[in-house]
Amino acid sequence: MSTGEQHDSCGGSSEATATLRAVVPSSGGEATADGESHEQFVTRASAFLQTNASPKVEQVHGWGEGSDQVGVLPERSAAEEMAELGRARIWAQKRFDAGFGWITGPRRFGGRDLDRAYQRLYDELEARYDTPAMTPYGIGLGMVAPTILAHATDEVKERYLRAMYRGDVVACQLFSEPGAGSDLAGIETRAQRDGDEWVVNGQKVWTSGAHLSDIGEIVCRTDPDAPKHKGITAFVVDMHASGVEVRPLRQMTGGASFNEVFFTDVRIPDSHRLGDVNGGWTVALTTLMNERAAIGGGMSSGGNGAMNTKRLAELIRHQGRDKDPIVRQQLADIIIHSRVASYTNLRAMATIAAGGLPGPEMSIAKLSLTMNMRRMSELLSAVLGAKLLADSGEWGTFAWAQWICGVPAMRIAGGTDEILHNIIGERVLGLPKEPVARA
Ligand SMILES: Cc1cc2nc3c(=O)[nH]c(=O)nc-3n(C[C@H](O)[C@H](O)[C@H](O)COP(=O)(O)OP(=O)(O)OC[C@H]3O[C@@H](n4cnc5c(N)ncnc54)[C@H](O)[C@@H]3O)c2cc1C
Repeated sequence: MSTGEQHDSCGGSSEATATLRAVVPSSGGEATADGESHEQFVTRASAFLQTNASPKVEQVHGWGEGSDQVGVLPERSAAEEMAELGRARIWAQKRFDAGFGWITGPRRFGGRDLDRAYQRLYDELEARYDTPAMTPYGIGLGMVAPTILAHATDEVKERYLRAMYRGDVVACQLFSEPGAGSDLAGIETRAQRDGDEWVVNGQKVWTSGAHLSDIGEIVCRTDPDAPKHKGITAFVVDMHASGVEVRPLRQMTGGASFNEVFFTDVRIPDSHRLGDVNGGWTVALTTLMNERAAIGGGMSSGGNGAMNTKRLAELIRHQGRDKDPIVRQQLADIIIHSRVASYTNLRAMATIAAGGLPGPEMSIAKLSLTMNMRRMSELLSAVLGAKLLADSGEWGTFAWAQWICGVPAMRIAGGTDEILHNIIGERVLGLPKEPVARA
């Protein structure tokens, strides 16, 4: 396997001064509450990164060189997942201990209490280095931790937030059930009060990363007689507690990153309740809003990566279809839609970075991405034909089968295409609302 041509995309320590100049904003001299100016912060962050990570090296492979894997979702064996978690944990711990793990968080719970500008400075610097993928912490830090910060008791905040940002605790989202996905308020997992504890019985499904998790955010029905949105309570549950059983689900792409999770008489202290009794819908909305922002953030940085239009163009050339005017038109269409989705997403992310709430543009961006994935699946099928069904050993052909099998997951996760159409129809186009079934 060729390692291909290599380009240093970071600049390394010899260009550190130029790097600092490039990322420090014009207000670089202002000092923070703990006395660290932007400039000092960047100097310290650069020193940390230079000591603990290597500058990113862009691998430029020619056709037929290197790996030809192009999956939408990462597909790993259990051993690979554990190794990934190990690498991510070591990095999270080092980063946190150096003061860069939770830059904007309240000091009392382990954060540095700095504003978002510092986080952006750090992110920009870290992106220039080769650091471990933080996939195992995506749901915990992207969705569960912000919900804990907004709704948990101080006891729970103190117990988990620092540990989550330091990588000591992995968290999952226990929302979907066999009978409740898009209609989340239809959940049936029951939590019944017993003194200072709650006793949980029921089943969750499609729980990403439950098999790696230490805690989960769970929504349960606590008042079956109330209208369905008003009888739900949210909790933080210990995934190692007696009565929690995690069973992996195998995906059609080969991996097993989701699970079914069964709860049998699982006890949760009342102190681990999030928000009010029967006020869980508000808590769930906090998580879902953060989920959209987390998916949006991932898409704005990785949307083009997920679409991999460069590899698609190379494939078309190597299959001798690059002079075909219809194929060329379809490829151009995909690239244009890919850019539009990415810009819409950046617009939504800019609103969030400025302290605003994401609006329906996040739904538009996600729907644009999945519609484009459909276009790309159709073009791949037309160009590859039977090579998509049988592995002939030809580099860069059958590998696309995994990409195509991963597309339906993207059309479901974080709001299905149909639900997003409803949101856009009602909130953007002002169409009449769907009739709501009585609870
Ligand atoms: C990659 C991935 C990761 C996930 N991770 C998690 C996780 O970590 N935790 C978790 O709790 N869940 C997770 N999920 C589950 C996900 O949230 C649900 O699959 C999703 O909400 C859809 O619910 P459902 O599967 O029950 O489908 P349903 O809601 O039953 O929908 C079935 C079909 O009916 C359509 N439909 C439903 N309602 C309407 C309507 N009102 N109008 C028009 N059409 C409608 C849907 O679009 C869909 O085509 C994950 C899913 C995926 C794919």
